[in-house]
Amino acid sequence: MNRQSSPRRGAAQELRDEPEEARRRQLIEVTIDSLAEVGYVGSTLAQIAQRADVSPGLVAHYFGDKDGLLEAAFRTLARGIEQRVRERLRLARTPRGRVQAIIDTNLAPEEFDQRTGTAWLAFWGQVLHVQGLRRVQTAYQRRMLSNLRHALKRLLPSEEARSLAAMIAAMIDGVWLRAALSRWQEADSESARALLTAFVDSRLKECAVPESGVERVAAAPAARVVGNSRRPTSFTTRNPATGEVLAEIAVDGPAEITAAVARASAAQIEWARLPGVARGRILRRAADILRARTAELAQLETRDTGKPIQETSAVDVLSGADCLEYYAGLAASIAGEHLDLGPQAFGYTRREPLGVVAGIGAWNYPLQIACWKSAPALACGNAMIFKPAELTPLTALKLRDAFAEAGLPQGVFQVVQGMADTGRLLTAHPAIRKVSLTGEVGTGKAVMADSAASLKQVTLELGGKSPLIIFEDAHLENAVGGALLGNFYSAGEVCSNGTRVFVHRAIKAAFLERLTARVSAMRIGDPLDPATQVGSLISEDHMMKVLTYIGRGKAEGARLAVGGQRITSGDLANGFFVAPAVFDQCHDDMAIVREEIFGPVMSVLEFDDEEEVIARANATDYGLAAGVFTNDLTRAHRVIARLQAGTCWINHYNVTPIELPFGGVKLSGLGRENGRAAIEHYTQLKSVYVAMSDVESPY
Ligand code: NDP
Repeated sequence: MNRQSSPRRGAAQELRDEPEEARRRQLIEVTIDSLAEVGYVGSTLAQIAQRADVSPGLVAHYFGDKDGLLEAAFRTLARGIEQRVRERLRLARTPRGRVQAIIDTNLAPEEFDQRTGTAWLAFWGQVLHVQGLRRVQTAYQRRMLSNLRHALKRLLPSEEARSLAAMIAAMIDGVWLRAALSRWQEADSESARALLTAFVDSRLKECAVPESGVERVAAAPAARVVGNSRRPTSFTTRNPATGEVLAEIAVDGPAEITAAVARASAAQIEWARLPGVARGRILRRAADILRARTAELAQLETRDTGKPIQETSAVDVLSGADCLEYYAGLAASIAGEHLDLGPQAFGYTRREPLGVVAGIGAWNYPLQIACWKSAPALACGNAMIFKPAELTPLTALKLRDAFAEAGLPQGVFQVVQGMADTGRLLTAHPAIRKVSLTGEVGTGKAVMADSAASLKQVTLELGGKSPLIIFEDAHLENAVGGALLGNFYSAGEVCSNGTRVFVHRAIKAAFLERLTARVSAMRIGDPLDPATQVGSLISEDHMMKVLTYIGRGKAEGARLAVGGQRITSGDLANGFFVAPAVFDQCHDDMAIVREEIFGPVMSVLEFDDEEEVIARANATDYGLAAGVFTNDLTRAHRVIARLQAGTCWINHYNVTPIELPFGGVKLSGLGRENGRAAIEHYTQLKSVYVAMSDVESPY
């Protein structure tokens, strides 16, 4: 259901001399008045023309027929309410606040206005019969659900988020509809919002499964609102392990994005003209700068993400530098091909840059993701505008500085900051030719939908629930090591994690014994301590989501073999530390087995034979990664060939050398990062036919 208030029209006579757009708008206002007064049936084209004091031919000129006019009116109302929702969402600083923003906008006082409400009822009554109205209604409804789901997914497991989002949407519609049908006697805006607020609060309370010792710490500070602007102008980034404030970051809005795109467009032309070897030289210098600053960058990454310094110094910074170096080497060899078309012609292809491209990053590997996106983009001659996740905005700025020091022309790599709205400004910008996103499946769908308007190319690196299969002949200690790497590195906040660990029944007891012993010995602590192996989760919201899943696993009958509790001893109470959890006695239909948790939660499942485990491993909408441990190499290749996953490991897990393409199938994404494959995603082909003879024309 779509509803929106709209201002009353001006004098109809004014229509005649107005420019076209103003005329259209005013005819729409007249239509809404008409619907409110005489309803759908009474609102004919002739009657609307008469009210507007214009000829029916003029109305038909603009809108075709009555259905066209009503669809335009409906679309105007729907766009208006979407715009107001977006404005309120920008102001909201917490997931709960975002849910409230959607409720408050949809049930705002103006939505309970007699004129607006009656017009909406008239539209609503026709949605089933008029295809154009149905399209508008469906699109609006989808957006409302997606906004609700996106906010709720930060608070709840995804299935519960989906179902609560549907309930809230239905209640918003239901409360409003009852009020409208009672001619606004049954509820006003205030009581409707109070009802929805109480409902959401009680549902969230019921869904949360608090662990003992869980304390809620202060939520993020409210957005700074300056003057009349309702857009948050900055946000605070904190160390999730300590709560320490690291920086106040300015949010980039429409003006900043427009300026960044203009700078990038100008800079890209010159950058693309450089020979590949010259572009490569600059990337190579940037790689050297990152390596020389490993200690400093690793410390910053650890403070921004809560990950152990032993990881950020060994992996995050160096893998980013490797990536720059790899594409530095490839830059000079990016080429098309020559095609022999016989003695009288030949053809060739040119592999050309796309132009200005955007990168949007997730918070789990901020610097590495920025490198994985920018290095191939720049090597191919594109300019990139990169938006890091709001939770981890800092190291992308250091990458920008390293590029500048290495001699990258200004504007070729820029960093913009902000939340989803800043991301949307990039996906909506017509001059940006491609978006590469790392994020959740829902975000991937939104980015792809938004990119469609300007037919942007997309690379989507999305979520997963990957299988790790351990056969009875596997090297046990290696298999346990692989399962640990594939579940608890970066506190489990890794997209490709093999969180469904299928272990052959014959070795399950031995596997579990070694696994739990090694998990119990893991050191959880201050991420800046080089001995620490498990750091903090990224945020309180995320920790609550992980703990909720753990509670849910227990409630569904899985056995928690080890870990799973929040650690609050000493200074760790200031952060979001959760002991790595291993669940045994899991079933394929449990939420912890089906849904991406993105935290330190492993599910161990038993299997008996190869056919069975392949079918179970593939029984998911995701398809990011998969792993197999076995000493039977024939079986290893046979099984890998049948697993529906974009990235696979045999007798290892979660190693991602830059030479190997990385990406998913099914809902885990589109396109590939890394390797030569990424070059194809940052270039476009131009085909050239060259004639070597006279033109024979029949004319
Ligand atoms: P999100 O999808 O929430 O966010 C990813 C980025 O997209 C953020 O910068 C976010 O902004 C931005 N964003 C959110 N909504 C929109 C929108 N409508 N339009 C444009 N940009 C938008 O992911 P997380 O940051 O929470 O990361 C975790 C997810 O990422 C997990 O699902 C994980 O599996 C996946 N991931 C996938 C990887 C892969 O390679 N396949 C690797 C790493 C993670 P902000 O959050 O700042 O508001």
